[in-house]
Formats: sequence, C-alpha cells, structure tokens
Amino acid sequence: MSFNAFALANRNTRGLRAYDPGHDLPALRRRFGTQLAELGSNENVFGPSPQALAAITRASAEVLRYPDPRGASLKQALASRLGVASEGIALGNGSHELLILLAQCFADATTSVVFSQFGFAVFPIATAVAGAQAIEVKALPGDHPQAPFGHDLDAIAQAVRADTRLVYLANPNNPTASWFADEELQRFLERIPQTTLVVVDEAYREFVDANVGQGALPMLARFPNLVVTRTFSKAHALAGLRVGYLIAHAQVVEVIERLRESFNVNLLGLAAAEASLGDQSWLDSVCAQTREERGWLRAQLQARGYNALPSQTNFLLLDLARDARELEAHLFNRGVIVRPMGGYGLAHTVRISVGTRSENLRLLEALP
Ligand SMILES: *Cc1c(COP(=O)(O)O)cnc(C)c1O
Repeated sequence: MSFNAFALANRNTRGLRAYDPGHDLPALRRRFGTQLAELGSNENVFGPSPQALAAITRASAEVLRYPDPRGASLKQALASRLGVASEGIALGNGSHELLILLAQCFADATTSVVFSQFGFAVFPIATAVAGAQAIEVKALPGDHPQAPFGHDLDAIAQAVRADTRLVYLANPNNPTASWFADEELQRFLERIPQTTLVVVDEAYREFVDANVGQGALPMLARFPNLVVTRTFSKAHALAGLRVGYLIAHAQVVEVIERLRESFNVNLLGLAAAEASLGDQSWLDSVCAQTREERGWLRAQLQARGYNALPSQTNFLLLDLARDARELEAHLFNRGVIVRPMGGYGLAHTVRISVGTRSENLRLLEALP
C-alpha cells in the first residue's frame, strides 16, 4: 500500500480544494514589468496611508518580539472610531480567518449554515470545515433591477431552520458587487431567532456611497446575534499584512477568543492598521477616488456595449451573457489581469477591480 494523505484527510477537509490564485502573479510581474495591470484581486491601487507605512518602518525594529496577543491598542483605536466597546471586537489574520473561526466556534455536524448562491467563497469553506450542513439559497435573478445575482433576503430568512447556527451575508457582496439597504437588513434581523448568528461581511463598506446608509453597525445594540466583519485589506490598502476584525456581542467575542491563535495578527499589521485608522483624511480621499473611477469606468464600459453591473465596491462585474474565458485570455495576453468567475458558477462574467486612471485606460484599450 502506498502512502495516500488524501485518504487520511478528515471528512470535512476531503471535499475541499486549495485556493486558486488564477495566475502566477510573480511570474507575470517579471514578464510584463510596470506594464502589468493587476485588476484581479480587488486591492486598493491607490495604496496605503503614508502614516501606515511610517508605522511599519518604526515597528520593524520590534519584530524579534511576539506581537501583543490581545491587540489591545488597535482594538482601542477601533472601539473609539466605531463607537463600540473594545470587548465587542475580535481581531483576525484577515477577516477570512474570522469567518472560518465563527463556523469553527458555533457550527458543527449537528447544525446548518445558510448563505446565498454567488456569496463570498469563504462561506461554504467555513461551513464545510465545521462539518455543518450547507444551505445555499438561490440568488436574485441576473436581470433584477436593484441587485442582479444579489442576496434574496426573504428566501434566506425562510431557509433558516431551528438548527441553523449561522447565516453569512456579504454587503456589498463579492463577486456580484450587489448590496442591500439598511431597512432590508433590519427587517431580516427581526425575522431571525436569537439562536442563529447573522454574520454580515462588510469588507467593502468604506466604498459605499453616502446615500446608501450606514450598514449593520448601528443595529448591534438591538440584535445581540448580529456579527459584523470588516477588513484592512480593501479600503485601507493593507491586504499584504492580513488584518481583519469583527464587531459583535461581547460573549460572541469571548467564544472566538477561546480558539483564536494567540498571535494571529502580526506586529507590523497591528501597527499599520492603527496608524491607518488615525489617517481619516487619507481614507476619505482614496475612497472618493475609488468611487469616482468606479463610476467613470462603468460608464466607459457601458458606452462600449458591456454590461457592467451596479457596484458599491472597488470592482465591477461584467456580465457577457456568454462564456467569459475568451475575454479573460484576450486581456491576459495584453497584460491586463481580470478574474473569470467560473468558480462561482458565474462563467459568463469577469470581475474587474477598479484601477488607477491609467490602468483603467489600459483595460479599455485592451478590450475587443
Ligand atoms: C476581500 C474580501 C474579504 C477580506 O478578506 P481579508 O481576509 O480580510 O483580506 C472578506 N470578504 C469579502 C466579501 C471579500 O471580498
């Protein structure tokens, strides 16, 4: 008998597949140099706050030490910025880790987890790792006027059962760029029993237009079963440092803390995130630039006959109504990296991160 680790993997891990980065980006950077437009991963192309970069340089002298296992200083800064108690915050190695930890801490083989079709890819992975039953709810149709391919909150509420321990929502959602209004979320929460945690992933919150509302945070006081996750990877442009956080009832945080790896957020990340929070004018400016480019790029794409769905994020989803691999390959050969969404069951779409104006122009020139 030859060694076979696949057969040894436990039931929960057996059905999973490793993350597919799409392309070998280090090799592409060598091939295309500065001519490469990396519009595949929803990073903030305007870059981090200079204050965050200065904090990283200062903190680098300390890297022989373990980071603060409580992340007390960053939590304090988040608490005062968000107007919540420090006890209601948990820090993660990216919000990805927190999404997984929530399932590991609250779900198991006797429970179910509900999420939407075309929801964020981590939701089904978290569910599988916990051994829970996944209940995927059909998304809204692609021609829905407000939220094409978006979350159907009515159907999601109906899918929640007595054994449902978690519901994962993303608002706005990746990859559909769809979102729902505060009033819709409030009505949804009113229908969900307190035995089910409702996780609202707000990774793209900072990019949302002012008139779209405030999101889930103000509802925490009323709904103890509400959990909000956010990240420094997108608007704060610190994706490479891996810092995310969740805001929840203090008891939810206490449970998470039992399993959280003691030093999950690294020392440079803690320092950079805290400094970035202190530079609100920079954050406002990159988010305003992103919104402006998003609107401009969408209009340019529409003018060329492409169906770019409405977005409150830093990316656009193009619905080609035919297999998108050909377009992806065409752009790839011209040094423009976008993300085909076949893995999400949206093989007729590509996701394009909003770039700088020059990157967006390069994309437009490269389009057939
Ligand atoms: C990018 C993204 C995240 C953030 O992941 P991190 O682990 O914090 O980098 C979370 N949720 C969604 C929907 C995302 O697109």
